[in-house]
Amino acid sequence: MSQKSSKLNLSYQLLMGFGFSLATVGLTTLGLNYFLIQSKLEKELEQRAQSITQGVSFSTEGLIELGNTSIVKRVVQNYGTLPTVVEVAIVSPNGQTLARSGSELQYPRYVLIHPELTQVLEQAAQTGSERSFRITIHGKPALVAILPFSSTLFGLADRRGLAIAILNAEELQQQAWQAFSTSTFTLLIGMAAILGLMTVLIQRTVLQPLQKLNKAVTDRNGIDHFVMPNGLPNNEIQFLALTIQSAATRVEAYQQELWQQAQDLETAIREVQQAKEVAEAANRSKSTFLANMNHELRTPLNGILGYAQILQRDPATTPKQLKGLGVIQQCGSHLLTLINDILDLSKLEAQKMELYPQDFHLANFLVSTVDICRIKAEQKSVKFHYQPAANLPIAVYADDKRLRQVLLNLLSNAVKFTDFGTVTFRVEPVGKASEPLTAQRIRFQIKDTGIGIVPEKLGNIFLPFEQAGKRDRNSEGTGLGLAISQQIIEKMGSTIQVESLFGQGSIFSFELDLIPVSHWTVGQAIANQKVIGYQGEQRKILVIDDYEENRLVAINMLEPLGFKLLEADNGQAGFNIALQMRPDLIITDVHMSVIDGLEMIRRLRQLPDFATTPIIVSPATLSQVDMQSSLDAGCSSFFPKPIEFTGLLTELQRLLKLQWIYETELETTQPSVSNGDQVDLIMPPAAELAALYASAQGGFINDIQQEANRLKQLSSEYTVFANRVLELSQQFDNEAILRLIELQV
Ligand code: ADP
Repeated sequence: MSQKSSKLNLSYQLLMGFGFSLATVGLTTLGLNYFLIQSKLEKELEQRAQSITQGVSFSTEGLIELGNTSIVKRVVQNYGTLPTVVEVAIVSPNGQTLARSGSELQYPRYVLIHPELTQVLEQAAQTGSERSFRITIHGKPALVAILPFSSTLFGLADRRGLAIAILNAEELQQQAWQAFSTSTFTLLIGMAAILGLMTVLIQRTVLQPLQKLNKAVTDRNGIDHFVMPNGLPNNEIQFLALTIQSAATRVEAYQQELWQQAQDLETAIREVQQAKEVAEAANRSKSTFLANMNHELRTPLNGILGYAQILQRDPATTPKQLKGLGVIQQCGSHLLTLINDILDLSKLEAQKMELYPQDFHLANFLVSTVDICRIKAEQKSVKFHYQPAANLPIAVYADDKRLRQVLLNLLSNAVKFTDFGTVTFRVEPVGKASEPLTAQRIRFQIKDTGIGIVPEKLGNIFLPFEQAGKRDRNSEGTGLGLAISQQIIEKMGSTIQVESLFGQGSIFSFELDLIPVSHWTVGQAIANQKVIGYQGEQRKILVIDDYEENRLVAINMLEPLGFKLLEADNGQAGFNIALQMRPDLIITDVHMSVIDGLEMIRRLRQLPDFATTPIIVSPATLSQVDMQSSLDAGCSSFFPKPIEFTGLLTELQRLLKLQWIYETELETTQPSVSNGDQVDLIMPPAAELAALYASAQGGFINDIQQEANRLKQLSSEYTVFANRVLELSQQFDNEAILRLIELQV
């Protein structure tokens, strides 16, 4: 529709434009023509009037001189009969009409006949100048010509006689108008003919070819399939068509190219989709593999760690064996951390890492962490300084496993990348000591005098798989530790900072807001004292686990404390034994054959007798899903493997409302100072320690013991320290004595 109106518009516009130009030129010509005709006719009339006055003057001059008035009158009458002549007259110098065509009057004054000529006649009679002019006489246009006679004719020196001719100018106008209308008519016909011709020409040469061209473009539904129409004139329109044709060819080529690109893109998307599916499948198998491996590795580790703890508590274990068991336990825990690292990586990749905060004894936690790395430092002869501030909170609420993981990573890196000198681990509060129960900011700083990191690598070391040093040095690591640690600390609301000078050493540090635990009693009591039984009647505990080694760990941990242990290797068997034996507490695994742990809990909870029986769920893996579904099934507590003895005792005490019997309550042995008490030690001044240090370096046991006793005498404040030295000397552990002294030095 719009195309059609635009076509109409084009012809209309062309014709309008042309018509307007033609009309302008025509009308201007007509106006000019009318003006020229009129002035030509007027000139002719004027010449005629003048020639009449001259004729009258020539032919009557002699007759007037002779006084032959009758012939004069006749001449005048003759001139009066000429066409367009209104009147011819001869007037004497005093204004008397001597002769006048068609007039009956005898010599009246001429101005009385034509008063409108009074002034002109008077002027002409006086000056003798010839004149002709237009005037209206009796309401009609007329041309008047006045010719004065010679001055001598009437014998008056200052006045002359006049020959007057009055011609009809109306006719002249009629003639001019006639000529004008004829030429206007001719012009209009000419214009119409020209416009008609132009319309035909525009149609043929412009509009029709343009329509053809338009049809060729629109019919094919776009320029891309353009076919050159036949019969286009060899002019700009054909040129336009050729331009469209070449554009069409290019458009087609582009379309081909686009189509090809779309095809390629589709193929690429399909390939990417396939690759994604393959990668997802691989990732799924990786997750399944990791979950399986996690389960497979944790089960034997539960055995190793469990028995290390059981044997550590066996009174028959010698101090030497105790030390060995300690190493087994530490190495086992480290292995557990490594397994967790691998899991963490997959969790970090899947953005699934969670924090599990709990209350823990900070000093114990730090010392046990430090001990693992101290062994490595000792093996390399690198000095290891642990410098905890005296005013650290006793216990805090945080995810201790994750914090330990980060500290172990930073400490073991410090030891790994230091060949000479010292690794210093400093833990101190930042700012003022805060109110109880509000978070306290604690700075953890690990400083080494090792190889350092080149500045250009410093920004990358927190990225996964980035290692800054030389290859041989990195062979132990994977480049994952710092990436995992940074993410954990970020989850805890902070960041790990690093400063390093290549060849001089590095400082890794971070600050955490830790909430101090105000009432640290139960856990601490159990951690520091040896439980050997409980008060009251014997309690029955049912352990359900499909792995025998896991059942044995729990049994061997708890039986020596006086519990009666029952066991089952799947949920169904556990359910049956529970009905028969009515245990006071149940510890169960989750994933088992026949019926699993959770199903068993659900069934038991439906029986009135087991509505409130405490049930501890102890799965092999720590997963949010297991935790939630265990709580939904009705478990009382959640305690993942490997089982940590002290923690388990705390749970039993809470759930069975037990009163523990401690070894110290029955035996009057020297109270043993655990590693965890190091921070509470009051150390003698450095000067007093010099002799002790020298004796320890030399390995002189007697001297060491003498020095220890001397320090005890010096002040009762140093008793704890001296007892610790005596205890270590009995174990011939000179290294530990040196380390203890180094805390002060
Ligand atoms: P890795 O398993 O290789 O130790 P990390 O992520 O723990 O992985 O550390 C990444 C890299 O950062 C290391 O390979 C090492 O090049 C550099 N690095 C980390 N800690 C130190 C340090 N204390 N001294 C020197 N270089 C370090």
